[in-house]
Amino acid sequence: MLRLYNTLTRQEEPFTPAQDNTVRMYACGPTVYARAHIGNFRTFVCVDVLRRTLKYLCGHEMRMAVNYTDVDDKTINGALKTQQTLQAYTDHWIGVFRKDSDELGVELPEETPRATDEGNLRAMGDLIASLGRNGHTYQRDGSTYFKISTLPEYGRLARLDHSGMRDGARVDVDEYSKDDPRDFVLWKASKPGEPTWDVGTGPGRPGWHIECSAMALRLLGEPPIDIHAGGIDLIFPHHENEIAQSEGATKKPFARFWMHVDHLFVESEKMSKSLGNVYTLEEIVARGYRPSALRYLLLSSHYRKQLNFTWAGMDQAEESLRRIADFLVRLEAVASEGSYPAIVERVSAARDAFTAAMESDLNTAAALAAVFDLVRDINAAIDAKQIGRADALAVAEAVHACDRVLGVVALRRAEDARPPVPVEEIEQLIGDRKAARARRDFAAADQIRQDLLARGIVLEDGPAGTRWKRK
Ligand code: AMP
Ligand code: ZN
Repeated sequence: MLRLYNTLTRQEEPFTPAQDNTVRMYACGPTVYARAHIGNFRTFVCVDVLRRTLKYLCGHEMRMAVNYTDVDDKTINGALKTQQTLQAYTDHWIGVFRKDSDELGVELPEETPRATDEGNLRAMGDLIASLGRNGHTYQRDGSTYFKISTLPEYGRLARLDHSGMRDGARVDVDEYSKDDPRDFVLWKASKPGEPTWDVGTGPGRPGWHIECSAMALRLLGEPPIDIHAGGIDLIFPHHENEIAQSEGATKKPFARFWMHVDHLFVESEKMSKSLGNVYTLEEIVARGYRPSALRYLLLSSHYRKQLNFTWAGMDQAEESLRRIADFLVRLEAVASEGSYPAIVERVSAARDAFTAAMESDLNTAAALAAVFDLVRDINAAIDAKQIGRADALAVAEAVHACDRVLGVVALRRAEDARPPVPVEEIEQLIGDRKAARARRDFAAADQIRQDLLARGIVLEDGPAGTRWKRK
């Protein structure tokens, strides 16, 4: 059975869904005002591995929601700057996010709600009304706030020390006036030039926290939901506030398990614009790396540890994936009759080791090690001609079964089938290069070769002309 670390209890606990076989899970999604960076994708990839583990290893059905935060200061300012409607502006960034997610093998969840969908806004209004009826809100200058002193349990997830909070050391800073610095805004009074809705709370727009509570409760059914996930920086105040809103309104626990992914660092430094080390998938690909290698790197360490992104790490990830891919090609060539009991046993031990690793709070590092141990031993068996065709098929099936959970090998194979530069373009450039050489413009010819190399395509000149392959 899967054991999952629960931030709420600060310990690993056995996980099964509360109702039937369906896991009801919510993960906080991106704010859609720019391209998500690889730190964001560490969280989304790890959450995807949890989803895949629940589906393919534990055999559960999934009902999962990942939201798009499509109204906040950043999205509103971005739309204003680019002279687009908020809808058109956020549509664009949602499309970019979906494309990057696909390239990283992140499965599409059952629900991908936008905060500004009418039904969701109405759900937020209803939730705020319930909070009002239960005495948890007050109004100030047209905005509605949550009054934290009305909820004694506040701070359980983040283990807040209430005595220390009063001085405002760790409070959610907000530009609106409040009774108590800990209080947070549920609905922001409209300002000139900003999009405005009225769902019974006066004209304005939703606060960030209310979106997630309302969408999770609306889309996933009776609380508590099974799992709520996100990056570690969301524990406080975002998730603490989500709990306060949901439990204050429904008087029922909000989520049974809280899963948090630790941060990605770049060359041992925090990712920040001022350091110039905020990378996107697009930039990784522009340096000649594949999305599958990034996914591999993101899974190479446990999700609850900080992970340090380095270019050397990317090289290693490419190399490791290549070893698995080459191994699968080598397996296909095994043709001899017969079956060897040692191989059958070895495959079964590898599957067990993989399952045990993943069931141990998603230990992806140990799970990958189980796959590589199998690769090493079966390579030795192929060298020693101690393996038959049926065995080879069983080994390949085991690798694919592990990969349904990890999602790296299938991704790499899909990339192999689809080169990073369209085939027609490669052929056109090979023709251009040939023409450049014919007129003895070797600098231009070499430039074409190098440009293609930077985009992941190697040109090889041979007696039959120039051929291309992926780097
Ligand atoms: P945002 O779009 O800022 O709301 O963030 C989307 C998700 O990425 C959230 O779950 C964040 O906690 C997570 N996140 C942000 N920065 C990092 C990072 N450096 N490493 C891992 N996750 C991150
Ligand atoms: Zn959220």
